[in-house]
Amino acid sequence: MVAPLNFPLNLPLAKSGVDRAAHFRLDQGKLDSLWAQGKITHFNGEKFLTDENGLVFLEPTSIGHGERYFLGVDGSGVAYFLFHSETLLAPEENYHLLREAQLNDLHIGLAVHGQSLALWHKRHPHCSMCGAGTAPAQGGAVRKCPSCEAEHYPRTDPAIIVLTRDSNDRILLGRQQVWPEHRFSTFAGFVEPGESFEAAVVREVKEEANVKVHSIEYIGSQPWPFPASLMIAFSAIIEDPSNAKPDGEEIVDIKWLDRDSIVEQLKAETLLLPPPLSVARAMIDAWYIADGVERPRLDSPESWR
Ligand SMILES: [Zn+2]
Repeated sequence: MVAPLNFPLNLPLAKSGVDRAAHFRLDQGKLDSLWAQGKITHFNGEKFLTDENGLVFLEPTSIGHGERYFLGVDGSGVAYFLFHSETLLAPEENYHLLREAQLNDLHIGLAVHGQSLALWHKRHPHCSMCGAGTAPAQGGAVRKCPSCEAEHYPRTDPAIIVLTRDSNDRILLGRQQVWPEHRFSTFAGFVEPGESFEAAVVREVKEEANVKVHSIEYIGSQPWPFPASLMIAFSAIIEDPSNAKPDGEEIVDIKWLDRDSIVEQLKAETLLLPPPLSVARAMIDAWYIADGVERPRLDSPESWR
């Protein structure tokens, strides 16, 4: 029997602390007045300006040339913006990647939204209809083409990720060649055009581990803005565990683990788990405690990839 997982998963990057207030995006005068009294975080390259309290908020007057993205308003009506520029506004050592910064839930929600927008704007400077240069509009929620008037919206790429188990509640993990030695994780992949989430789960697990899954259940989602993914998490039961084998291309090794063996292998340093920010790690942690037996917390050395 498999133990039921907590729903929804508690996912570290799935935080929404402000009202996105989309109705303000069409009112440039309102956006300007919110900006004048707003809290403005700075994004440069792929890094945020931070200090020991998390994101640093700047005064609008101290800011030079760059793009402004409206992120929303909090319960007191304070507006938050991300300022995206090519120039540093503080010493370089004060800038940190999202995964390095120590952020509270409000800051995580702002940073994930802001980074998603900033990376999309940077990668989409031209109109896909006519090739002309485009410019941000509606507080950064859109890019507009001045030539053909097309509007372009930020893209989000859906990817499924799945915790696969056999009927004895062992999990099956896979290893990619490019990962650090001993690093294993759950199976995942992008949803293809015209495909449902469920069909993507079945296809990815078959492709990567050669097994069929059933009893697919949705267990949560979180944005993964590196640069534009949305991870949609499922659990599934493997019908034919004896057929499991790596595809030899994307996945070069697989591993069956029960709760005792995962602890033993972590101790023996023959297993390295996915990073704490990832959906994969949250799914493994949720499975580990799902049978209700008291055990030490899963401890794995920090590894980003
Ligand atoms: Zn155009």
